[in-house]
Amino acid sequence: MGELNSFKIAQEQIKAAAQKLNMPASVYEILKQPMRVLTVAIPVEMDDGSIRVFTGYRAQHNYAPGPLKGGVRFHPEVTLEEVMALSMWMTFKCAVVGLPYGGAKGGIACDPRELSPGELERLSRGYIQAIAPLIGPEKDIPAPDVYTNAQIMAWMMDEFSKIRQYNAFGVITGKPVSLGGSLGRHEATARGCAIVIREMAGVLGLPLEGARVAVQGFGNAGSIVARLLHEMGCRIVAVVDSKGGAFDPQGMDPAKLAAFKARTGTVKGFPGSKNITSQELLTMDCDILVPAALENQITAEVARKVRAKIVAEAANGPTTPEADGILRQKKVMVIPDILASAGGVTVSYFEWVQNNTGYYWTEEEVNGNLERIMVRAFREVYDMYRQHRDVDMRVAAYMVAIRRVAEAMQVRGWLGQKACTSWQREAKTA
Ligand code: NAD
Repeated sequence: MGELNSFKIAQEQIKAAAQKLNMPASVYEILKQPMRVLTVAIPVEMDDGSIRVFTGYRAQHNYAPGPLKGGVRFHPEVTLEEVMALSMWMTFKCAVVGLPYGGAKGGIACDPRELSPGELERLSRGYIQAIAPLIGPEKDIPAPDVYTNAQIMAWMMDEFSKIRQYNAFGVITGKPVSLGGSLGRHEATARGCAIVIREMAGVLGLPLEGARVAVQGFGNAGSIVARLLHEMGCRIVAVVDSKGGAFDPQGMDPAKLAAFKARTGTVKGFPGSKNITSQELLTMDCDILVPAALENQITAEVARKVRAKIVAEAANGPTTPEADGILRQKKVMVIPDILASAGGVTVSYFEWVQNNTGYYWTEEEVNGNLERIMVRAFREVYDMYRQHRDVDMRVAAYMVAIRRVAEAMQVRGWLGQKACTSWQREAKTA
């Protein structure tokens, strides 16, 4: 398990980037844990009249760059340690794309599939009552994550608004469009991922026309990445979901795949395709591999067999640290999760901006601004990677991100008077 402890992995990633930038030790000492964590007990009346007490968490990693931002996860295996690690990743995901936020994350240990809609609503409202002192449009702005959705965000926003006695649309993002949600939010993670894949293919000289793409996971992120890459001319040669997969070297139409999955519950058995397993997909001969399912899918054993030229991490944490080293040796270009999956939080930021100004954008405006931010972030990470030849794209992304957070801490005076050192001079001349 040691290798796969998310909290330790997050600490190692921060340490590697901070050392590479010769930052003062205080930067790592501050960033190696969340600045504030809260554990709450939430009593909920169940439909049978009994009371069940659920445990919930909110971890706030670092507020130097601005208000805190991060999703709320409903899952039976949610732990404080996991929520803490996820809050750390959120700080760097926001910083790598230059959003004015620090990272946070929340969660409740529960199985939402076992709860009735009424129980789910009471649990969601109880969680907001419990964490209300910590959150707010200018303090900490939750969002959806695993097993939470727009309806849950609507209940949470409503509960917070009742407590504060005004319509606090900006307290939560990922809301329904009818309640201040943003157009384009549903597709944003996938769109951001497709944009950075296109940029990476460009710098590698890999034509997208006819490029062979394999996608692991055919949910929100995976199915839309497949559709957008197909629109850019790529051939979608393999997709898998939790029940099985489909392979066709001629390429498959993602719209037809999605319609087939909507009918049958899986992409397995798609007409004209051969069955393929998740493991076979990860190691197949292709140009672009998009892990868009779960964490720790590309293990060292898988990495040794990966044949793709580009791995774009739409999922959070799909590659283990050991596998990362192997991919680097094999010169596979990995677009790390904090960059490749940052489109979602970027459009969440747009939602918050729209809520705060009361002026709502068209979908073209949302997509245009997302394109601009993702292209700029890719360029900054790629330039950092080119400048420091001994780092991979992941460390480069952390370097871009940590430099931003450290600058914010330094000018706030958190690092002391002597902190303007080589990393800042380097930043000014870069
Ligand atoms: P989702 O639940 O919509 O889809 C997940 C997909 O993965 C499903 O098709 C499921 O069948 C498949 N899957 C599950 N286990 C699998 C297995 N063992 N092998 C192959 N496929 C399997 O989830 P999503 O929103 O698309 O999120 C996917 C990943 O992207 C997660 O890591 C998530 O944290 C990350 N992510 C999502 C967003 C977003 O806005 N949706 C934002 C950032 C990161």
